[in-house]
Amino acid sequence: MSTILNVSGITKIYESGGKKVIGVEKVSFSVEEGKFVSIIGPSGCGKSTILRCIAGFEKMNCGQVMLEGEKVTKPGPDRFMIFQGLDQLFPWLTVEENIVFAMKSVGKVTKGMSPAEEAEHYLDLVGLSGYGGYYPYQLSGGMKQRASIARALSVKPKILLMDEPFGSLDAFSRRAMHHMVLKVWEKTGVTVIFVTHDIEEAIDLSDRILAFSPARLKADVTNPLPRPRERSHPSYRSFFLKISGLLEGAFKPDSDLKSASAPEATLAF
Ligand code: ADP
Ligand code: MG
Repeated sequence: MSTILNVSGITKIYESGGKKVIGVEKVSFSVEEGKFVSIIGPSGCGKSTILRCIAGFEKMNCGQVMLEGEKVTKPGPDRFMIFQGLDQLFPWLTVEENIVFAMKSVGKVTKGMSPAEEAEHYLDLVGLSGYGGYYPYQLSGGMKQRASIARALSVKPKILLMDEPFGSLDAFSRRAMHHMVLKVWEKTGVTVIFVTHDIEEAIDLSDRILAFSPARLKADVTNPLPRPRERSHPSYRSFFLKISGLLEGAFKPDSDLKSASAPEATLAF
């Protein structure tokens, strides 16, 4: 399987209130095409920063992101980001209109199929068949996330970047969303980079887990469990403990984290 994404030595330092704040420092990893990779770590450790660098939203201080051998310099429809917030759709358009708008704006309408039929195809894939005529305000939080994922898929991205997408949902809805996202992943073959701070979510979904401590990639672990992931599997608990052990001590006092004194602050821009 070929490498689709190469993140090499990226450092992102923010300027905030006259201080330098390290987002991530010297982070490197690769992702193979079609893989489901989770990024896990405590709040503030740089998970969203990494996704934003891959999405092309951030100017990095050092390092680079390569997508299929091309340097990422700006956002593009080959990378689609799904956020935790449940209001990512245009509220004045129906679900179908949201999807058709996205497809048309990037010129990704499939020939031989009407845009409405294609929107319905993606809605069916995420379990929202028949809801194309609904407005976002008529949907539950989980349904809105499903619709956002359908819209993302309709643009046919190479990589789906998911930043704690189910973080605002209740536990039952999250389980349902896990089934849906795995089905979508299997059927489309899209590469997924999924940010979470929930160890079980990372284990249940991913092929690989990138464990972060503040600003740093601490470990890159391959998930040894067979799919579908069963929490009753004899190795589930030990793998869970391995990941939680990696994350232990990942919390540091703010003083260590927030003020980027030398040598970090002297890193080249
Ligand atoms: P996570 O997603 O793991 O919670 P983030 O990537 O959002 O972490 O943030 C990493 C660090 O960078 C944190 O210390 C955060 O406060 C800081 N940070 C993130 N975005 C900004 C910003 N726009 N301006 C200043 N500091 C930021
Ligand atoms: Mg975040």
